[in-house]
Amino acid sequence: RGQAKVYNDWAAQGSEYKIWDWDNCLEAFKAVEKNSRKEPNEKFKKFHGFNGLLHVEDSQNGVYEIESGLIDAAKNFGIPYNDDFNGERQNGFTAKDGRRCSLAESYLKDALKKVELHPDPKYDSLGKVVAVDVKSFAHVINIIWDEKNKKENIAIGVRYFCNGTVRESFIAPKGEVILCGGAINSPQILMLSGIGPKENLESNNIKVRKELPVGRNLLDHPGCAIVAKSTPNAIHDWSNGCEIGIIHKANVEGKIPCKDDFFNESPDIQIIAATYHDGFLDPAIELYKKKYNKFDGLIMVPLLNIPSSVGYLELNSNNPFEQPKIYFNFYERPDDLYRMISSLKLCQIGINDEFGQWCTNGKDMNDEDWEKFITSKTSSLHSCGTVKMAPESQEGVVNHRLQVYGTKNLRVVDASIFPYIPSGNTNAPTAMVAWRASRLIVEDYMRTH
Ligand SMILES: Cc1cc2nc3c(=O)[nH]c(=O)nc-3n(C[C@H](O)[C@H](O)[C@H](O)COP(=O)(O)OP(=O)(O)OC[C@H]3O[C@@H](n4cnc5c(N)ncnc54)[C@H](O)[C@@H]3O)c2cc1C
Repeated sequence: RGQAKVYNDWAAQGSEYKIWDWDNCLEAFKAVEKNSRKEPNEKFKKFHGFNGLLHVEDSQNGVYEIESGLIDAAKNFGIPYNDDFNGERQNGFTAKDGRRCSLAESYLKDALKKVELHPDPKYDSLGKVVAVDVKSFAHVINIIWDEKNKKENIAIGVRYFCNGTVRESFIAPKGEVILCGGAINSPQILMLSGIGPKENLESNNIKVRKELPVGRNLLDHPGCAIVAKSTPNAIHDWSNGCEIGIIHKANVEGKIPCKDDFFNESPDIQIIAATYHDGFLDPAIELYKKKYNKFDGLIMVPLLNIPSSVGYLELNSNNPFEQPKIYFNFYERPDDLYRMISSLKLCQIGINDEFGQWCTNGKDMNDEDWEKFITSKTSSLHSCGTVKMAPESQEGVVNHRLQVYGTKNLRVVDASIFPYIPSGNTNAPTAMVAWRASRLIVEDYMRTH
């Protein structure tokens, strides 16, 4: 989830944005969560939900010995323990286990079962909620507009490619089109439909229906991995889920953070530590193994949770199957680079005693070496922000109710609407946004029909 401050920043964009302040977001986070902690105390209950569809569970199996060593190293360093990053504060470290799964797996399947088995009579006037038709392998090409009302940009359906042919699907009377293609593809679909920056659209021969900064404000948590070799047979199995997050305040001068930093109430770095085992067949890890021979080890990945640099994306062509050009602009701002350097140094000394053998980098790197290493090894997992929810005068693409400016019947509901990136992982915030959006959709329907 990240810190409350980010959501309060979302809400500070205008009085009507209050529905996105921390209290309202917390209500939505709790509504989607199905936390399985046994005997939760009152403080825990304040921050967690137990009747939603998004499964959240505590570690069942404990952590590897090798990771306990890492926890000890963190303790020795003075980093506070925190058994709930989604609670009151985020700084500290913790461990978790279990399998990760997508929202499709943990939420959508159960949600579909729920509407089929128990259609809500309250919404009878909305028609048959049970008529949910999920089409797999259907690639949306663009939005279909009502050509009789050209000036109003009324969305009436989508054009999509499925089973070798282009098909069209139209909304029910009084319905709306809701885009949820994610932070890369929702902006792409909007641009292919004539909503976006004039210059980029025109250079790709797309008629501009509404000029908006679609694709700008590309935000992410850049992450950079270092790998350490463990003693033979220290790790018996690969575990996809087992990892330790150490959230701390980075040092913007590239120095190793001091003890006080770890208690800072606005921690800006999350460090993921995952074990890997010689027998594990992940293509990315295979690369490391080919290069550095086979070994068991530990991979540590600091993520900048509150980066300063901002990227953008734009259409590469008007071909809906060609991905847009993406410019992350990671480390464009020097404070980001130095925060990453300080975090990697922390990882290095944190596990130095445990392992001693570094595989991806030497021990005696200066800041210039770190810069080269970081800029060539950064990856991203949490893209968002490219269909920004903000007033139109503040580079917004959708309003506080997630409706696209200058259009009718068109909403965007996914991570692309985040105006500022949450300072934690983005999956739960996306589910939170979707829950709130479902309320807004029903409210708007009831108000206007
Ligand atoms: C490798 C990886 C690991 C991650 N790990 C974590 C994690 O551990 N914890 C966490 O909190 N977050 C994690 N995230 C981030 C999290 O998955 C995303 O923030 C979240 O899924 C965003 O949801 P979304 O609905 O915006 O987009 P998505 O989940 O990307 O959903 C968009 C959907 O739209 C579909 N789509 C796109 N274009 C079209 C089109 N033209 N036609 C039809 N369908 C289309 C896509 O196939 C996709 O199913 C991870 C992300 C990645 C990539």
